Amino acid sequence: MLQVRSLRKSYDDRVVVKDVSFDVEAGEIFALLGPNGAGKTTLIRMITDIIRPDAGTVTFAGRALRGAGRPRVAYLPEERGLYRRAGVLETLVYFGELKGLNASTAKREASALLAEFGLEAWARRQVQALSKGMQQKVQLCAALIGRPELLILDEPFSGLDPLNVQVLEQVLHQRRHEGTTVLLSTHQMNKVEQQCDRALMINRGHMVLYGRVAELRRQHGAHAFDVQADARPPQVAGVTGITPHGDAWRVALTAEAEPHTVLAAMVASGLAIRAFVPAVPPLEDIFVDVVQRGVGLDEGRSGPPTIDEPHTTGDAR
Ligand code: ATP
Repeated sequence: MLQVRSLRKSYDDRVVVKDVSFDVEAGEIFALLGPNGAGKTTLIRMITDIIRPDAGTVTFAGRALRGAGRPRVAYLPEERGLYRRAGVLETLVYFGELKGLNASTAKREASALLAEFGLEAWARRQVQALSKGMQQKVQLCAALIGRPELLILDEPFSGLDPLNVQVLEQVLHQRRHEGTTVLLSTHQMNKVEQQCDRALMINRGHMVLYGRVAELRRQHGAHAFDVQADARPPQVAGVTGITPHGDAWRVALTAEAEPHTVLAAMVASGLAIRAFVPAVPPLEDIFVDVVQRGVGLDEGRSGPPTIDEPHTTGDAR
């Protein structure tokens, strides 16, 4: 759906987005990750046509992002602001009309969104009467009005309490099932693990990770398994170490060891095993490791990473 190809942007001769290419499918929640200053906002601003790229293209379902026939794109930026003295419903109707809805459709959609976010009782109040988290929900309603085909959200969970986080998650899931393409930029790695199908990570403008979240985690895992059993697993052939890990034992294997052979040896020893699962690192650990080691920043690459050659680190052990 969203197709980004070789986007590049420089400021003052400094490349801040370097040949970034990726796809986001319809009905996908896609994460855009990267440390502060990596170039995420610059990338989003090029996708939303706020700034012009020096090179590269962005299309959505084959259509350009500007001009007649452009897709409906909504962007919730990280720096947000509403007219404090305007009414809540009035604000949403205004945004709906800006997006081309007629007044009655805008009002109908705005009321439905306020109900979805549990804000219907606040429709006639001024924005300034709402708490920060409630204003954040109004901002989300403003992004969602007009039924965007591409929804770009920068840190949408910030400022929301756990219940409202759940409300937003439900809204996002419903929208994705309706076919909305969601691009989510966040530093909350647990949310990416829970909510996102695939992710792109950039660092200093370079693509450094790209792929399915589960696959990225698996690739970065050590050759180890978490074993739940009624006793400490035995040190069978191929095992280099066994350490307690939560309610399981983390069993590290030699590079050559076959997991099924190790499992069979443990079962043969009489151990009653409830679970034997690959140990995958949290995304946060991968993020820190990739940034600290400068993975993917090799300037000597012969060409830009392409979507056919996802630029994962490839250091699965
Ligand atoms: P954060 O997570 O902190 O929001 P980011 O990944 O969104 O960071 P950007 O805001 O895209 O990062 O900035 C990337 C780099 O581009 C930074 O070094 C920033 O200083 C630089 N930059 C962004 N906009 C401009 C501008 N208008 N002029 C000059 N440099 C800019």
